[in-house]
Amino acid sequence: MDEVERLPWTSQRELDDASFRYQLAYLLAHSPFYRGKLAGHDTTGGLDTIATLPLTEKSELKATCSDENPFGDHLCVAPDELVRVYSTSGTTGTPSFIPLTVSDLDNWVTGSARSYAASGLGAGDRVVTTYNAGPFVAGAALDAFSRIGVCHVPIGTGSSERLLRAIDKLRPDAVVLTPSYAEYLLELGDLRSSTVRRVLVAGEPGGGEPAFRAKLQAGWGASVTEAMGIGDIGPSLFGECEQQLGMHLGARGLVHIELIDPDTGAARELSDGATGELVLTHLRHRAAPLLRFRTRDHVRIWTEPCACGRTAPRMRCVGRTDDMLIVRGVNVFPSAVREVVARFQPRVTGAIQIRPKRRGVKQEPPLPVCVEGESNAALAEKIILEIRNALTFTPEVRMVPPQSLPRSDYKSKLVDFSDAT
Ligand SMILES: [Zn+2]
Repeated sequence: MDEVERLPWTSQRELDDASFRYQLAYLLAHSPFYRGKLAGHDTTGGLDTIATLPLTEKSELKATCSDENPFGDHLCVAPDELVRVYSTSGTTGTPSFIPLTVSDLDNWVTGSARSYAASGLGAGDRVVTTYNAGPFVAGAALDAFSRIGVCHVPIGTGSSERLLRAIDKLRPDAVVLTPSYAEYLLELGDLRSSTVRRVLVAGEPGGGEPAFRAKLQAGWGASVTEAMGIGDIGPSLFGECEQQLGMHLGARGLVHIELIDPDTGAARELSDGATGELVLTHLRHRAAPLLRFRTRDHVRIWTEPCACGRTAPRMRCVGRTDDMLIVRGVNVFPSAVREVVARFQPRVTGAIQIRPKRRGVKQEPPLPVCVEGESNAALAEKIILEIRNALTFTPEVRMVPPQSLPRSDYKSKLVDFSDAT
């Protein structure tokens, strides 16, 4: 573990305050976008007054991009200083470009290496990964495995047969993949008898939910830990340690975290157990640093000390605003529905798909949910009751045969609007 990871959080805060003041001065000097946005705001208060500064929305950044200027008005460096350009996955609309300088890229690798090392990976381990090198930022996380010193076997997505062969022949200690893919592979092979003892999941929420995690751990005969990044800010910013109690901020010193009320944007205190939308600020970025960026991720934070010795706060992602449905005023995250259904294993497979009857975020109950498992009306009734109790909305549960819902080697499509009118 880097010694910096044991640094008391109060000391980290002092270092971050100095970095933040420098970063803000840098933005005012180099970013036309932030010069305009911060006009009239007091920018002298450091981190103590960061909540008085405006939030940055993805749509604002995109609005400044054009054919002539694909990076937008917040690009702070000359184009010849860029060494890497990633794309975001563009879950909402067109993808955008993420430019990096050499120091930005180095910081990304530093944060990612800490996040993955937290899960117990170390020199001498053999690790099979399924991230592709491009175009998405997850590809940058591949450099983290060299930094940690593991023997890295990059397989990528696209062929589960190739992946299973690598696991069988190369006898890795760990695999890195999305939780959906980790679940899907259990249907394709006997992974319990494999050499894999650590399954590291990232890329979508759900890997930390108890019933879903229990299924993965039992199926793989391995411990499951999560990592998480945010395209515009960095890959694998957070990584879970072997205590399995949430993801530590691996990018400490590089990124500042805040919580806000997702509806009003008001700041929330980072107290133990606090929930809200995650807001991130670059502290040492150069190409296109972001200030108070709204991630659209709903998270829970823990600040109490962790037995692993890392002092950075821990976090679990509850779900993304972009995936969220609102059923008569109640926020419903698809991964939370999957988690409740997973409690009924082995009578269900764990696979679900929500099939809304109408387009858009707002839905009326009962919300149709297809559940793979036994065709049994009493079971469907029990699932309806459990979802109503746990998530306070009423679903319409339709049992469908095992293996009838789509599988993915990337991220699961838990909501399908093709029945919607
Ligand atoms: Zn820990």
